Amino acid sequence: MTGTQAVPECPSDIVWDVTYTCPLRCSHCYTESGRRPSKQLSHEEMLRVADALTSLRPATILLAGGEPLAVRRLPEIVDRITGAGVDVVLYTSGWSLRPELIESVVAKCAAVYVSVDGPTAATHDLIRGRAGSFDRTMAALRLLDEYAADQRARGATPVEFGLDATVVRTSFDQLELFCTDVVPRFPGLTRLSFGAAMPIGLASRPEFVEHELLTDEQSDALIAPEYGRRLQSLAPPGVQVSVRDYRGVQYRPDLLAQGLIPSMEVEPDGRVRAMAIYEGTVGSLLEDPPAELWARSVARWSEPFVVEALAPVRTMRDWAEAARRIDYHYGTAEDRARIEARPVFLPLTPSR
Ligand code: SF4
Repeated sequence: MTGTQAVPECPSDIVWDVTYTCPLRCSHCYTESGRRPSKQLSHEEMLRVADALTSLRPATILLAGGEPLAVRRLPEIVDRITGAGVDVVLYTSGWSLRPELIESVVAKCAAVYVSVDGPTAATHDLIRGRAGSFDRTMAALRLLDEYAADQRARGATPVEFGLDATVVRTSFDQLELFCTDVVPRFPGLTRLSFGAAMPIGLASRPEFVEHELLTDEQSDALIAPEYGRRLQSLAPPGVQVSVRDYRGVQYRPDLLAQGLIPSMEVEPDGRVRAMAIYEGTVGSLLEDPPAELWARSVARWSEPFVVEALAPVRTMRDWAEAARRIDYHYGTAEDRARIEARPVFLPLTPSR
């Protein structure tokens, strides 16, 4: 990065991982959710974090995790954020989406994205590490679809909901099936997003990189304009298809210098990550002024260790190597212990 003068004083988008609780066990999980303590705050503390975040006047707060719908009093958190005039976008695996959450949560969100990592039960459940998860996800999408149809029938603007797929080698050859077999089941669905897995969290493990992270060639093929057009042509009319490889969010100095502004990422305990996709925090929203935390984050991006680790990154393997170095360097002793205790990734096979 040639300087931080181009970075706005506050982030436009904030990702708040409200809990590390999750019913699934995805092999690529960036946050290792479900395998670590939830780090979830008390309800009162969550309200304080919500207030701190909205004080930054972001355009959007994305609620993620873990599984955000596992937070019992999430409706009140959503009310607090939207009541301050900030849009909420919800990311969910769909496992925990119950009918009573439609009015109390979904109806108040600017958009809801359900993650589906395979277009068949076999692929999805294999990647997500839990039998039955595809069926639960389809049930969640049906709930959203029925709600959107009901809203339309009442003359209201229907909820915007979409399907978000993280692409790994196991699913790479099946993407067209999302367009032809999955999305047509839900006439009210308007967005289909494909994003290559990043070498972050569990997906940075060397064996995962070896077996499941897309190769550079696959990443290039994924974002080739003609492939995007092909996927778009297969999707039902009215569905907007997007394809991303996320190599632009590496915090590589030259990419930052081009004006790419990463989002702020908040861990469940209220601590703010210096860099959204890497370990290492700069303080807590329960203790420190939010704008000061953002300023500390921005300062991290040009620290010599970060620049030295990321400037030479050109390949997916380079990126994974840099991510592991940064995570270990900036992680706490607790983070390092967790990283060292990660199980070796075993290739995904239906018999596992
Ligand atoms: S659903 Fe999301 S948070 Fe849960 S294990 Fe999978 S990737 Fe991690």
